[in-house]
Formats: sequence, structure tokens, C-alpha cells
Amino acid sequence: MSQTIKDIRKLSLDEIIVDFAAVDIPKYRAKQIYDWLWNKGAGGFEEMTNLSKDLRLSLKEKYTIHQIQENLVQKSNDGTIKIGFKCIDNRMIEGVMIPAEDRMTACVSSQVGCSLNCKFCATGMLKRERNLDAGEIYDQVVFLNKQSIFHFNKPLTNIVYMGMGEPLLNYDNVMKSIGYITSPEGLGMSPRRITVSTSGVARGIIRMADEGKKFKLALSLHAADDKKREQIMDINKSNPLQDVMASLQYFYNKTGNKITFEYILFNNFNDTDEDAKNLIQLCQQVPVFVNLIEYNQVEGVTYTKANEGRTNAFKAMIERQGIDVQIRRSRGKDIDAACGQLANKNGQ
Ligand code: SAH
Ligand code: SF4
Repeated sequence: MSQTIKDIRKLSLDEIIVDFAAVDIPKYRAKQIYDWLWNKGAGGFEEMTNLSKDLRLSLKEKYTIHQIQENLVQKSNDGTIKIGFKCIDNRMIEGVMIPAEDRMTACVSSQVGCSLNCKFCATGMLKRERNLDAGEIYDQVVFLNKQSIFHFNKPLTNIVYMGMGEPLLNYDNVMKSIGYITSPEGLGMSPRRITVSTSGVARGIIRMADEGKKFKLALSLHAADDKKREQIMDINKSNPLQDVMASLQYFYNKTGNKITFEYILFNNFNDTDEDAKNLIQLCQQVPVFVNLIEYNQVEGVTYTKANEGRTNAFKAMIERQGIDVQIRRSRGKDIDAACGQLANKNGQ
């Protein structure tokens, strides 16, 4: 009789214990394996060197580990590293490691492609093929951490969910992956070093607030009135700014965490004084940091980036109101690793 082989990473520790008990494998073995899976990031049973050879072999007959594989590693001339990963079903995703003086940041994908079709984003031009599971998100962190240590001798300090896909449309797997990254049995990172970025799924923001976890939230705002936002982000039609702002206030009240507004400055579209005033109004509704983002050119997009003078004047208007604001220059552009450029160009 053929037995189906289970992905052991889909099981909780308790489920592994129960499975093992049925074949007389002691509980401490389940704990050792769980540690290999979620603390050490093992991709195969042969790596689990504190288990006997026989046990490793018998595990291999019953279980598999659907770890993603590094397909292509590229290094930008500014030190940014992009990894193209191949999933078990041969689908491709990308993750990025961004080195800076004070931090090493991993930017991870949450979906293969994206269903949301924002007009300025290369990922939005791919169709959403599927959600990533929690292990596939976790794996990106493990591999990006290895690159960080290998090239810079420093482990990751921060994780941002700003790669391909909309994290709040893959809610359960994203939360589970945060669990593996932050729990003491997992990678043990502080939730304060994790930022989830969303295009504005109000219901998801409220759900996240109710989790009572201490990770951070960023909103990809990009326009501060409904009419303009709808032109560049379809999601604004089902999640207008009023609803999104209400969800952010709820999030702030529950968590006490300031929210980050991401705002790409497009030349002659959302970079006028009037736009700055609209943005200031939103900033007065909930405590925020504002990141003014340099637009990275994406093929087929007609928007262009705001010029230097306009960018500085826009920033100054916001600053004058006592709002925390900074300009974010893009990183990794030469290897298509910058925000909005992830599109599996080198995948096959
Ligand atoms: N789907 C989520 C997370 C991934 S996008 C979200 O939209 O928030 C990561 C960030 O890159 C978002 O702030 C997104 O708006 C931004 N981005 C997309 N295309 C970009 C581009 N061409 N130039 C600069 N930033 C871009
Ligand atoms: Fe999807 Fe975010 Fe890109 Fe919009 S900006 S298409 S939500 S990945």
C-alpha cells in the first residue's frame, strides 16, 4: 500500500508528537526535529545530525520538507543582494537583503505574483499564482540571513514584508511565518523588528491589530485623496481612504505602534503643494512616520519620478507641521531588486 508523504513543516509540534507516539518515537525526538526545522532552518533530514541514521531514514520515508531553493543570487554594486528562489512546484519568487550601517534588512515575498495590479509596480503586472505557505516565507529569511553573514559578517536585524504580493491577502500564512521568525523555538527575533506593508486591506489591518502582537505596520499610501489613489491603486475602490484610516486608528489604539506611510513621489501627479496638504491632513489623524520614496522606473509605466527640487519642497512642507518624514532612496536598482521591481525577470 502506498503511503502519502507529508510535508512535516505543515505539522505543529503537538501534531508531530502525536504522529511519533503512534510509532513509538519519543517526545524529545519530536522536539529535536522541530528545532531543526524552525530554529536551524534545516531543508532535509540528513542535516539532523543528532538523530540516528535509522531514524533519519525512516523519517524520510514518511515525510518531506518543502523548502524553497536558491536559484540565482545577484549582488548589486551598492551591496544589496537579491535571491531568486524556486518553490517545490517550480514557481519562482524573489527576496532581497539590504545592508546598511545600522541594520541588515531582509525584504520577503508573501505571494507568487500579486492580484492587486497597482499601476506603478512590476509585481502587479504578474498575475497572482498562489499564496506562499508559512515555511516558504520563513525560508527566505533563513537564506537571506546566510547571505548577510557570508557577505557582511552580520546577521539580519530587520524583516520587511515588502517583496512580491500583498501580505494581508495571505493573512494566515503571513501570521504563521511571523510566529516562526519570532518565537523562541523559532528564530527568536523581536517582533519590533518586523514590518508588514500593505496596500490598504482595512479588514486585515483590524484583524492584525486584534492579534495584539508588537510588529510594525506600513501603508503604501502613494496618494492622499481617493480620486488620485484610485487611478494608481485598484484596491482603493473597495478600500477607500476613510475605511483605511479608521483601521489604522484602530491599529494604533490597540498596539501603540506608529504607522509608516509609504509615499512614492510621481512627477506632476502627486507631488504638488495641494497633495502635500492632503497628506498632512491624513498624518494628523493618526501618529505616523512618512517615507517619501523615490520611484523606480518600471517598464511599461508612464509615471516618472518627481524631480529633486519638488521632492525637497514636498518634504519641507510636511516637516514644517512637525511630522517625521524622510526621503528613501532606492537600493539595488542595477539588479532589479528595488521596491516595485521584483518580477522574476531572471526566472525561467
Ligand atoms: N503589497 C504590499 C507589499 C509589497 S510592495 C504593499 O503594496 O505595500 C512594497 C513597496 O514597494 C510598497 O510600498 C509599494 O508601493 C512599493 N513600490 C511598488 N512599486 C514601486 C516602484 N516602482 N517604485 C518604488 N516603490 C514601489
Ligand atoms: Fe501588489 Fe504591493 Fe505591487 Fe500593489 S504595490 S501590485 S499591492 S505588490
